[in-house]
Amino acid sequence: MKYVVAGVFSIILGFVIQGCATSNRHFDSGKPHHRPDGFVNSDGTTVSKSFSDLLRWYRERHGKDLPPPPGEFIARYEDFPQQAFDKGQLANFSSQTATWLGHATVMVRTNGFTILTDPHFSVRAFPVQWMGPARKVQSPTRVEHLPKIDAVVISHSHYDHLDYNTVIKLTKQQPDILFLVPLGLEKLLKGWGVERVKELDWWETHTIAGNQITFVPAYHWSARTLADRNKSLWGGWTLKSPDLNFYFSGDTGYSRDFDEIGKRLGPFDFSAIAVGAYEPRWFMKAQHVNPDEAVQIHKDVGSKRSMGIHWGTFELTDEPLDQPIGDLQKALGKHSLQKEAFELLAHGQTMNIR
Ligand code: ZN
Ligand code: ZN
Repeated sequence: MKYVVAGVFSIILGFVIQGCATSNRHFDSGKPHHRPDGFVNSDGTTVSKSFSDLLRWYRERHGKDLPPPPGEFIARYEDFPQQAFDKGQLANFSSQTATWLGHATVMVRTNGFTILTDPHFSVRAFPVQWMGPARKVQSPTRVEHLPKIDAVVISHSHYDHLDYNTVIKLTKQQPDILFLVPLGLEKLLKGWGVERVKELDWWETHTIAGNQITFVPAYHWSARTLADRNKSLWGGWTLKSPDLNFYFSGDTGYSRDFDEIGKRLGPFDFSAIAVGAYEPRWFMKAQHVNPDEAVQIHKDVGSKRSMGIHWGTFELTDEPLDQPIGDLQKALGKHSLQKEAFELLAHGQTMNIR
C-alpha cells in the first residue's frame, strides 16, 4: 500500500495529548518564545490542530485516491536516483562540499571541518523499528562508513530528525563528536550516553576552531512522547566558517523568521531547505513548507545556492515522494530562478558548493 497507515502515528503523537504541565527549567521571561511550561514560535503562537482535524486528515487520506501530481514524475521508488556514497570520492572534490544522505541528513565539509545535520540511517522514523514510516529508498551509507565528523546539529525532537539508533552508533564510533541540540534536549542525549552535548537557544552561537554554529528560529513544534509536546525547542542551524556560510532549515512552516535570519546572519553561500511533507495544505501548511515557500525561504535568507531536503525518503504525508521534483521546478520558474539555484540531489550525491 503506497500510503503507509503507520505513517500517521508519528503525527498523532503530537495531537492526542497536550502533556502534563512540567516546568521549563530554561524559562526566561524576557524571551518571547519561552513559556513556563515549554516553548512557542517567535510570533507567540503554536502549531495546533485539533484532534478532529487529525481525524479528518486520516479519513481523507485513506478514503480516496489522491490526484496525480503535476509534471513529470518517477513512477517507481527503484527509479529514484541513488549514488553509492564513497568516502574516497570526497578527496576529489574542492574543499567545500555538501552530501545528501537522505531525508534531512546533510554532511557539509569546509576546510577540514565536517558537520552533519539530523543524522538518520535507520530503516524507520519511529520509536520502534517494527512499525512506523519506513524508508522507501535505502540509506546511501552506514554510520560505520562516515568520515570523521566534528559536529552534529539536531533541529528538533521528531523521530525523522533525532534517531536514537543513529545517535548511539555515532557516539560509540566517534566519541569526540560534539552534538549541538535545541534547548531542552541535552538531558535526553546525555541519558542515551552521549558525552559531548550542548544545548542552545535561538541566536546562540557555539564556536569550534573558528567555525561559528548558531541555532536559529523555525516555525514548527516538538514531541517524542504523549507528554513532551513543545517541551524542547525546534529550529534551524547556520555554520559560518572562514570560507563558507551555510544555512540548514530543519522542519518549518513559512514565517517571518527567514527574513530575520537573512538580516542577522546572511547572505549564505549554500542552504539545505526542506521541500517535502506538505500535503494536504490545510493541515500541513503550518508546520511544513511546500517547494514554493522553500524557494521563498531561499530568497529571504539570501542563499546563493540551495538543495532540497526532507523529501524522497520517508512517506510522512499525502504527496507522492517524488512530487517535490515537479513542484520545485514550477516554483523556480515562478520566482524566475535557474534550476542550478535550488537543486534536488540523488541520495548519496556530493556536490561542490563553492
Ligand atoms: Zn518535525
Ligand atoms: Zn520532519
